[in-house]
Amino acid sequence: MAPLAEPTQNPAMRLLLIGPPGSGKGTQGERLAEALEVQHIAAGDVLRAHVYGETKLGLQVAGLLKEGELVPDKLITEALTPTLSAAAEEGGYILDGFPRTVAQAERLDRLAQRLDVAPQRVIHLDVDDGELQRRLLERAQSQGRDDDTPDGIARRLEVFRTTTAPVVELYRERGVLLAVDGAQTPDEITQTILAALSDAVAR
Ligand code: ADP
Repeated sequence: MAPLAEPTQNPAMRLLLIGPPGSGKGTQGERLAEALEVQHIAAGDVLRAHVYGETKLGLQVAGLLKEGELVPDKLITEALTPTLSAAAEEGGYILDGFPRTVAQAERLDRLAQRLDVAPQRVIHLDVDDGELQRRLLERAQSQGRDDDTPDGIARRLEVFRTTTAPVVELYRERGVLLAVDGAQTPDEITQTILAALSDAVAR
């Protein structure tokens, strides 16, 4: 079969990107979306757009985002559903930052079954905590995101360890996980992922 890096021969790639804060989900999501010609959907960006737009949802979740707490499963799933189904209809998606809880993974299962848009692969960007803290503190100085405070960073890392790590294990058990060393340079990570995807399809 043709390698996945050839977008014209691979019109329908559906991927999840899971990793702790600072692991490079946003950067890789954008790069992969371009390489594979599918839409990049970042759960955090969708929520932040609601906060800035002061929508009903935005007003409900602003405090949670700032503190580094997850927003309720039902709210994030509902917020993502229209975008996800539209993207899937266009041929595929890279979904970054969802699911972050096992309950969200179960909601995604139901949605994917209903719309026939199940993810084909789940990429786990693995980076150690020391490096994550360093990157996030650096980002705090350059971008000043509301949740990039020392407390917000610590809480988000803890939430990943306690609540999101089991989601990674779930997909590992299902045999769809691609674990990638996120300590490499951004270019190396993109290449590693594209090569692994094309291997997975060729097999
Ligand atoms: P980071 O990975 O650096 O924490 P994100 O932009 O992915 O950045 O997420 C920022 C915040 O948005 C999270 O701390 C959380 O409050 C909220 N959020 C994003 N995705 C989800 C999700 N799937 N479930 C619940 N809350 C989420």
